[in-house]
Amino acid sequence: MDYKDLAELIFPDAKDISYYEEKYPRRDLPEGAAVVRIGPSPTGNVHIGTIYQAVIARKMANQTNGVFFMRVEDTDQKREVENGINQIIESLTKFDLEPDEGMISETESKGPYGPYRQSMRGDIYKAYAKYLLSQGKAYPGFETQDQLNEMREKQEAAKVRTGYYGVWATSRNLSVEEAAEKIKAGEPYIIRFKSPGREDRKIKHKDIIKGNVEFPENDQDIIIIKSDGLPTYHFAHAVDDHLMGTTIVSRGDEWLSSVPVHLQLFQELGFKAPRYAHTPTLLKNDNGNKRKISKRKDPEAAASYYEEVGIPSQSVKEYLLNIANSTFENWRRANPDKSIDEFDFQLNKMSVSGALFDMVKLLDVSKNVISKYSAERVYDEAIAWANEFDKELASMLSADKEYSLRVLGIERGNAKPRKDLSKWSELKHTISYMYNDKFDKDAEFEYGKVSDKDEIKKITKLYVEKYFDINDDKQTWFDKMKDLAEEVGFAREVKEFKANPENWPGHVGDISTVIRVTLTGRQNTPDLYEIMQVLGKETVIERLS
Ligand code: GLU
Repeated sequence: MDYKDLAELIFPDAKDISYYEEKYPRRDLPEGAAVVRIGPSPTGNVHIGTIYQAVIARKMANQTNGVFFMRVEDTDQKREVENGINQIIESLTKFDLEPDEGMISETESKGPYGPYRQSMRGDIYKAYAKYLLSQGKAYPGFETQDQLNEMREKQEAAKVRTGYYGVWATSRNLSVEEAAEKIKAGEPYIIRFKSPGREDRKIKHKDIIKGNVEFPENDQDIIIIKSDGLPTYHFAHAVDDHLMGTTIVSRGDEWLSSVPVHLQLFQELGFKAPRYAHTPTLLKNDNGNKRKISKRKDPEAAASYYEEVGIPSQSVKEYLLNIANSTFENWRRANPDKSIDEFDFQLNKMSVSGALFDMVKLLDVSKNVISKYSAERVYDEAIAWANEFDKELASMLSADKEYSLRVLGIERGNAKPRKDLSKWSELKHTISYMYNDKFDKDAEFEYGKVSDKDEIKKITKLYVEKYFDINDDKQTWFDKMKDLAEEVGFAREVKEFKANPENWPGHVGDISTVIRVTLTGRQNTPDLYEIMQVLGKETVIERLS
């Protein structure tokens, strides 16, 4: 009996790997094209880290005329949730990050290298495991979990490295006959990789992001096929990324230390290894301590959070590029109006250590992103959000769409657009005074320097009777505000007032504040002239009176 017979005994139905090598030919792509992927697990609540990876992968593929695909990694079936794949697909779609290939539902995929779901690729892994077995590069392991636990305790007590290697790898030394006998007797087993490595030797690896790293060789006979028949992450990674033609494995840096075992697997399988880019972990500043951003502790770790509070996906993506490449900020400053698609993303310009994820900064980025939107875009995105999360806002906006577009157009589309909005959940408060039925409820009416009721009445009355004309252009409107200030004994010009403040009780700004607060209920608003134009003659007169 030889290795081949043992392989045959274990996987009688598995095909020869030549079948899959032919079925999934090497990709025919232009020179330099990157084939990149994300490998999310369907564990529910898509993590913002998955979106981060997808932003990077999408960029890499677009910039090189390559391919971005999505492979569902569901070999740990204990962690799986129902509908988990659909959640991933939905989330990627919301962020406009649809992969070129990948799962398009729980069971269907698009693209020539599918299925793109590991639990549907069982036969493929078996074929490659059989191939390794037949060459004596893998073997069945018969230790029970209890025996493995016992071994670990002994290793800990003896203060040696834990794991399945060297003298501890007891199943490794079984002859093919002994192994076959156990299998025929019905003993349970898993399949282990026979590592050719030695711990006292080093391997050098050049990571695209981390640069040159050195590790001891792997000497662990890791499990490649588990007792449930599914592969481990390591084995599936090697087989899938080989067959799917991945050229750059960009993944979280928690996998960096697994590179020695992965390179060994590629080598023993006879595959060309991909290049690796280990991306820094998204960190959060938690009272001065940096820690991993976590779905358990941080609402912003869930990709769905942004939709719930109405932060545009455009803002989130822009922010993620901001933390991905430190050069992004300068680029944005130099190119305020360009689409992020034009930014030249570079993997090797990612930070080597963690990437700090800061909500305050993200909201700031979002303000800039939204400030560039047209009124129509604000309307469309806000109403889509409001329909789901704020019915009151939805009916406010949709009751008179033309009017709402004018409201949203205030201080928008000009050289210095308003920057007071970072998310749609703030919109209602920001514009409520533009809607008569919301105005009274929402107004604070906190006046400034001029706060005496009679004086306010005098000023507003005079304004309505003598100065207000909805047909005035902005200059005339402003001149009249000055006339009004002068008539009630205030300085016409702020500059004059500042030079000799003792000469007047205040200046034209204090007078316009009276008009502003009476009209809007607030001291801080966008341009008052534009507000009045949109409110219209009747409403202005009604409110001032
Ligand atoms: N399923 C793996 C993870 O979620 C994917 C890592 C990879 O991209 O290879 O960490």
